Amino acid sequence: MSSALDVGQPKTSPSAAPSSTTSPTSSSSSSSSSSSIQNYRPRAAILGAGISGLSASISLRRAGWSCTIFERSLFSNETGAAITLPPNASLCLARWGFDFDKAEPVPNWSIRFARADTLEVVKSEEYKGFGEDLGVGGEKGHGGSWGVHRADLHWGLRELVGAQRVKGAISRSTCKEKTRETEGKVDGEHGTEGVVDGGMVEIQLGKEVAGLDCEEGVIELKDGTSLEGWDLVVIADGAHSKLLPSILPSSSTPSAYQAQPTSRSIYRFLLPLTPSSPLLTNPSLRPHFLPHSRGGPLPGFLSWHDPIRDVLWVSYPCRGGRVLNNAIVHDTPSQPSGEAGESVPGRGWSTAVGREEVLQVLSGFHEAARGLVDLAYEEEGEEKVEEENGRGTGEKGIKVHHLFKRPALNSFVRGKAVVIGDAAHVMMPTHAAGGAIAIESAATMEVLFRDFPSDPPQLEEFVKRRLKLFDQLRIPRCNLTMLASNAGPKWLNVKGVEEEARRYSKGPLPHKDTLPWTKEFRQVLFCYDAFEAAEAAVRKEGRVAVGAASRSEAMGSEVKAGNM
Ligand SMILES: Cc1cc2nc3c(=O)[nH]c(=O)nc-3n(C[C@H](O)[C@H](O)[C@H](O)COP(=O)(O)OP(=O)(O)OC[C@H]3O[C@@H](n4cnc5c(N)ncnc54)[C@H](O)[C@@H]3O)c2cc1C
Repeated sequence: MSSALDVGQPKTSPSAAPSSTTSPTSSSSSSSSSSSIQNYRPRAAILGAGISGLSASISLRRAGWSCTIFERSLFSNETGAAITLPPNASLCLARWGFDFDKAEPVPNWSIRFARADTLEVVKSEEYKGFGEDLGVGGEKGHGGSWGVHRADLHWGLRELVGAQRVKGAISRSTCKEKTRETEGKVDGEHGTEGVVDGGMVEIQLGKEVAGLDCEEGVIELKDGTSLEGWDLVVIADGAHSKLLPSILPSSSTPSAYQAQPTSRSIYRFLLPLTPSSPLLTNPSLRPHFLPHSRGGPLPGFLSWHDPIRDVLWVSYPCRGGRVLNNAIVHDTPSQPSGEAGESVPGRGWSTAVGREEVLQVLSGFHEAARGLVDLAYEEEGEEKVEEENGRGTGEKGIKVHHLFKRPALNSFVRGKAVVIGDAAHVMMPTHAAGGAIAIESAATMEVLFRDFPSDPPQLEEFVKRRLKLFDQLRIPRCNLTMLASNAGPKWLNVKGVEEEARRYSKGPLPHKDTLPWTKEFRQVLFCYDAFEAAEAAVRKEGRVAVGAASRSEAMGSEVKAGNM
């Protein structure tokens, strides 16, 4: 029982929640899974509507579950930054029917490492077809490696969620009313053949979850309402999760698992990549950013590195190649200047930072690169980034985000609850992998939680069994990805990392001097089909069960024979 959950509160069943209108159907049906699936749907509460929570609701809905997402915020504007989707994630999105055309991702087919002072490229790798040549991705031509604006990803995920009802205010670009009700795309125009996709999703905005009882499947909202009777609870409340302690074993010390600030921070901003932009007119910058179709490099990561101050400026295009995403990883200045002058590192994504501070951090960079900082603060540049698709972010200037870490968990499950996404593993952006691994976890859930029994006691047992499988599949993958990301570019040269990585992963580890995102890392971290892995685990579970049943039958016969 979570300490935050007051069991003395009056309880409300999920279907009768004050603001819930998509009542899940009765759980008393007794017919078997496939025949009764239209009438019977288990109920999942999903706590948080970031990449993880939305992905979990898409996958559980496809598995035939009815889901309610509780989201603290009002879905205001998505962060003005891009995200890389490697094949392990885009494979899942493709399977779910994500609208790649609308999201306008740009392929990520190369990585170039360059000097910050001269901008000279010193090492590069091309991997056109990444994901397809390594046996994952490629489905419908959309399983590769991409850079996508976060607003476009979030938008596409929300479309796939196909919520029957969204309660609360949502983004200015989506809807002007306070409450919106939409017709759900229940039968997935996007659904894949053979997928049940009969569930329903409701999103409740402005609903903060204050606590939960993992064993009983009860959640408590901040307003004091208790909601009980959930068959599954998915904790997806992000890196600074307040709900994580509920899932930890009672013997653990919750404070040890709080995300801790590292000494590193990241500046982020978008720039218009239009023909008149200095990115394409300045002779020092133009060779880096010219589109491939006009003689430029294959699109992908460009990393400018200043080894003296250990500043890494990574950029890549998104939104159809019209926008350049920029992330500058640096040591958090001891006295941040301008608007970012916080004594304690901020937890959000949106702290504005002063131009002087950024220029100071970039003092070892080429003049042309430093000139881009001015461009980031120009109104005109921002308007161009906002541009036509209505999924802008309303952000101006440069924002700073402090980077956090947390120790690995030994289990992601407890009772009827599971933790996914940043709540389960907080990682540095070294491999651009946190969101991708969360999408993978959601896809795993789709396979594990379909074909559920409709009898309540059997369902409870089924959920517990499948959560165990979830742990077996996800602890090695997620923890290895987190450890590799948190070790940084020095990877196994960092003391203790290899030993810890070996605790979770029996498979091959990239050589100690392998640079982030180069071939060995791409193979280990991103060439993974979560559906296939989960299907294999379910098949194995079935074989073990059949084996156990026939063994006990045989033992029974032996006993009988012995009695004769
Ligand atoms: C600088 C940077 C760059 C990155 N780049 C990449 C990349 O290129 N590729 C990649 O795959 N990953 C990347 N990541 C990681 C990725 O952004 C995260 O892993 C991902 O956004 C996590 O999503 P989430 O849904 O788990 O958490 P969040 O996005 O934090 O969502 C949590 C949600 O829960 C809600 N919430 C919180 N508390 C409560 C509560 N009590 N009740 C109800 N709702 C609540 C929040 O409002 C929020 O909507 C990057 C991360 C950083 C920091």
